[in-house]
Amino acid sequence: MTFQDFNFEDKLLDGLFSMGYTKPTPIQEQAIPLILQNKDLIACAQTGTGKTAAFLLPILNKIIALPEEQRHLNTLIISPTRELATQIDQQVEGLGYFTGISSISIYGGGDGNAFIQQRKALEEGAEIIIATPGRLIALLQMGQINFDQLQHLILDEADRMLDMGFYDDIIKIIKYLPKERQTLLFSATMPPKIRVLANTILSNPAQVSISISKPSEGILQQAYLVYDAQKLNLLTHILSNKSYSSVIVFASTKENVKKLEIELLRIGLKVKAFHSDLEQKEREEILRDFRSKTIPVLIGTDILSRGIDVEGISLVVNFNTPHDPEDYIHRIGRTARAETTGTAITFINDKDQRKFAAVEALIGREIPKIALPEGMGEAPLYQPEKRVFSSGGHNSNDKKKPFHHKKKTFVKK
Ligand code: AMP
Repeated sequence: MTFQDFNFEDKLLDGLFSMGYTKPTPIQEQAIPLILQNKDLIACAQTGTGKTAAFLLPILNKIIALPEEQRHLNTLIISPTRELATQIDQQVEGLGYFTGISSISIYGGGDGNAFIQQRKALEEGAEIIIATPGRLIALLQMGQINFDQLQHLILDEADRMLDMGFYDDIIKIIKYLPKERQTLLFSATMPPKIRVLANTILSNPAQVSISISKPSEGILQQAYLVYDAQKLNLLTHILSNKSYSSVIVFASTKENVKKLEIELLRIGLKVKAFHSDLEQKEREEILRDFRSKTIPVLIGTDILSRGIDVEGISLVVNFNTPHDPEDYIHRIGRTARAETTGTAITFINDKDQRKFAAVEALIGREIPKIALPEGMGEAPLYQPEKRVFSSGGHNSNDKKKPFHHKKKTFVKK
């Protein structure tokens, strides 16, 4: 299936191709036709499946088709957090870049100025509002928003909103909305309380469900707790085990991949780096040598984790814990393909422990932590709840940008 199959307007296709999307994800394939048919929808899908575009694309397409005089406030998206609201707003900006459709994100926090700016932006108008429940209610109670022409309501990460205690707020917000509307409910899980909410606010909904593929049973998954200074020694130790005939080592950035290649070559190991700075011809040559086992060890970034099908990989090493838990599944899926077996070993430094806990949460089980080989020193303790993410996370630009309206910074490639 391609995006053209949805008969989207050209302006929308331009936006999504500029974003680099070439093919719809499974949730998009299933949800988009139903949303285009104006059906209410319950969609069970996690972050990372492309769920945001699954609801934004058909909504944007419907708004484009409206005559200018009907381009009022058309869609309300309710999100549990301001981080998510900001991310959705950015996707509206990117996907809708050529459509002229504007969005406002409204959320609490920030100073009084942010509140004043949000009210002012509401007066200027926008077709899409993305809001967290608390701030939206404040504005509704002040009579600042007129939802008379609203056609679509979307609840994103509904399970998280209920966990955060927003049930009553959502019901309160819905009282301000027209009864005739299309309602879409997206949730990673479907506990009974979500069913209750769905029965209350949706009308005869269609349902779609996308589960993230779990790692194959044939993969032996292990992890080491390490300090960065111990990683190279540990990797050398693991690679000295000759039963691993074909190995991929994943590092997070191409700079790290290049550095690791130099260090391993210096030790005398036969390795090759694979990254986006290489010419297509060089990449093909490296993969050919890796497939034929002329090169036993390949070091790469996540570009190696998707789509590259090499049979007989006996070991995958994550030199760093992947930032996104789903990348873990893609990376380790390079081994144990087609019913064979394989081993996946992840290095967890002290800063990456929470990321690894997120991986364990996604796959629904704990991965055994192996003691460091003798002579390699003390390992960090596994205390993910006490550790912080090493990178800034999603919140970093949020504080700088408490409010965002009609600022189209997206550049067509
Ligand atoms: P989401 O599940 O909405 O958080 O999306 C996860 C990531 O996938 C986001 O970075 C999107 O920009 C990206 N994405 C969504 N749909 C597609 C697609 N069809 N092709 C490539 N990337 C996509």
